Amino acid sequence: MFAERYGTIPTIYRAPGRVNLIGEHTDYNDGFVMPAALDLYTYVAVSPRPDRKLRVYSENLGEMCDLNLDLIHPGSSGHWNDYVRGVAGVLESYGYRLRGADLAILSEVPLGAGLSSSAALEVSTALAILSSSQISVDRTTVAKLCQKAEHLYAEMRCGIMDQFISCHGRAGHALMLDCRSLDFQLLPIPGHVRLMACNTMVRHEHASSGYNTRRQECEDSFRALTAVLPGIRALRDVTLDDLENHSNRLSDVIYKRVRHVVTENDRVKKSASALKTGDIAEFGRLMADSHRSLRDDYEVSTSELDLMVELANCQKGVYGARMTGGGFGGCTINLVDAAHAQEVQQRLEQDYEARTGLRPTILICEASHGAGTVPEDPPESNEPTE
Ligand code: ADP
Ligand code: MG
Repeated sequence: MFAERYGTIPTIYRAPGRVNLIGEHTDYNDGFVMPAALDLYTYVAVSPRPDRKLRVYSENLGEMCDLNLDLIHPGSSGHWNDYVRGVAGVLESYGYRLRGADLAILSEVPLGAGLSSSAALEVSTALAILSSSQISVDRTTVAKLCQKAEHLYAEMRCGIMDQFISCHGRAGHALMLDCRSLDFQLLPIPGHVRLMACNTMVRHEHASSGYNTRRQECEDSFRALTAVLPGIRALRDVTLDDLENHSNRLSDVIYKRVRHVVTENDRVKKSASALKTGDIAEFGRLMADSHRSLRDDYEVSTSELDLMVELANCQKGVYGARMTGGGFGGCTINLVDAAHAQEVQQRLEQDYEARTGLRPTILICEASHGAGTVPEDPPESNEPTE
C-alpha cells in the first residue's frame, strides 16, 4: 500500500491497543492501574523526505492529509490528524528536530471503542518519525510525550496509562503501574487465559462531563481530608481507617467516591499478588468487587455494562468480569479460559442482543508485546531494533 502510494519502501513500526484489567479511576489520584497490551496493533509505515513536510495517509479512514513541521501549533481541530500533528508538535517543542516523512497508518485497534486506538496511533507515529529522523528516545519519555500530545492537540486530559502500556507491554503479562512514580511490574497471565473485550455499543452523552465531575469530586475530597491528614499528597495516600475516622468531613456521596478509590488501589495490589501465585480465581473475585464498587460507590456504570457483566458471570469458563475504562458506556473485560472463549463469545453476543436489541462487538485477545518494529519472525524481544 505504501509503495503504491509513495513509490518508496518503508520501515514499519507498530504499537498496541490496551485493556485495563483492574484499577479504574485511580490514575488521576496518583494510584495504581493494571492494563495489558492487546494483540491488536496500529501500524505506521514511514519513509523520510528531504523537506519538512509530513504526508499522512490513514487506511482506516481512506484519507490523506499534509502537514508542515514548521507550522504546527497546539490546539484541537477535531480532525484525526490532531494525533499525528500533536506527536510531531510535542517532539519538536521538546527540541527533537524532525525530518519530513511520508506516513501510512493502518490500525487493527477499533477506533473509538475504548481500546485506546488513540495511544496506539500516537506511540506508533512517535517511533516512526523519531527513527526516520535518526533520533533515539527511551520508552517512558515516548509515553510521556505522547500523553502530552493528547492533552495539547486532542484536548483530552488522559492519564499516562494508555501510552505507557502501549510502550512497555509484554506478551503474556499484565503491567501494574504506579501512576505517581511510574514504577511498574510485569505480572504473568496464565497461558490458558484470554482477555475478552466486550463493547456494549452504548456510550452516553454525558460521559465526558461525568468523568470531569468525578475528577472534581476527588479534588474536593482531597482538599477536605488534607485539613485533617496533612501528610497526604493525593487520595492514594488515604487508608480505609483514615477515611472511617474522618467520614464526618465528607458528604455521603463524596465518602463513597473516596471509598472506591481507596479500595480499588488495594484491589490492584491484591490482584498483583494473585497473578504472582497464579491464582486467577482470586483475580476474578477482585474484578467482581471492582465492578460493584464502580457501580455502587463511584456510580460510573450503566445498565448495559451491568448486564454484560452479569451475562458473563453466568458463563462457564469465565474467571472474572468488570466494566473497564472511564464508564458511562463502553466496554467490559472478561478473563476467560481459552477452551471456552469462543462459546462464551457466541453466547454473550446472542444473550446481549436478545436483551438490548444491540449487537455487541466482542474480541478475544491475548496480552501482547508493546511498541516496536514489525517483527519478521515471532517476536523474541520487546526492545526496539532501530
Ligand atoms: P479510543 O482511544 O478509545 O479508540 P479515542 O476517541 O480516544 O478512542 O480515539 C479515537 C480517535 O483517534 C479516532 O476518532 C481518530 O481521530 C483517531 N485515530 C485512531 N486511530 C486512527 C487511525 N488508524 N487513522 C486515523 N485516525 C485514528
Ligand atoms: Mg483514546
